[in-house]
Amino acid sequence: MTKGKDLERYTTLLFAKRDELWARGVTLPPAGGTKGDIMDVASADVEADLQVRFREADRLVLKEIEDALGRIRAGSFGVCEACSQPIAKARLDVVPWARFCRDCGERERA
Ligand SMILES: [Zn+2]
Repeated sequence: MTKGKDLERYTTLLFAKRDELWARGVTLPPAGGTKGDIMDVASADVEADLQVRFREADRLVLKEIEDALGRIRAGSFGVCEACSQPIAKARLDVVPWARFCRDCGERERA
């Protein structure tokens, strides 16, 4: 499990990234949200569609960040959700909201 100074550092990184997303107007839809609306609005215009897709990606990251902050509070941050092994620091440095170790992450994508 990630502790002490490292945990503080990742918490800071996560907050910073969340602030950055918030500053760009990225928010999470309310629970049980309105995903369909967003897609409908964009369908008429390819460029707008692309922007919405970027925003969707940002939103996914924001969701991952919120989840990671929840894991910090729960004391399970830095542990792979699939194999319960610690996630490598090198990976958390790049993706502090990673929920899987590298091996399991690759398996998830496969
Ligand atoms: Zn794993």
